[in-house]
Amino acid sequence: MGRGMTRIDPPLYLASTTITCWRCGSRMPAVAIIAPNVPGTEGTVCILSETQSLPGNIRAFIQKRFPSYKLSYSKTIRSKYYANTCPRCGVLSGDFFLHSEPGAPFFPISAEDAAHLSLVEIPADSPIDVQAGLGMGPGEIILQHARKGK
Ligand SMILES: [Zn+2]
Repeated sequence: MGRGMTRIDPPLYLASTTITCWRCGSRMPAVAIIAPNVPGTEGTVCILSETQSLPGNIRAFIQKRFPSYKLSYSKTIRSKYYANTCPRCGVLSGDFFLHSEPGAPFFPISAEDAAHLSLVEIPADSPIDVQAGLGMGPGEIILQHARKGK
């Protein structure tokens, strides 16, 4: 399953939370990239999912904080993408389950839900080329209500 390259203008944000591994029950971190400036979306705040390629500096920023976010093979999409994996058992928690259903970790449906997420800006001073799906639902509420950190 291939996707074309999308050029995104800065800033980018990293949203994070803690979830429970569906296989071993460990608590594990999960992250998602928020992109408010995607050309052609008329100002929609997008959330990247099933990200297949990322610039090295962006990847390094994320993996320094969340080493278990890594390029992994997904049986669901039969391809590799940057996925949240369990530090204990290694299984992937797929973006489909983290992003797609209202009430999922990266699909908050209220300000209160969104406040469970933490948000940091990913340093980037020039346009960022990614290969990813663009979610157009809950980005705005995440940007407004997630806890801002460093
Ligand atoms: Zn696990």
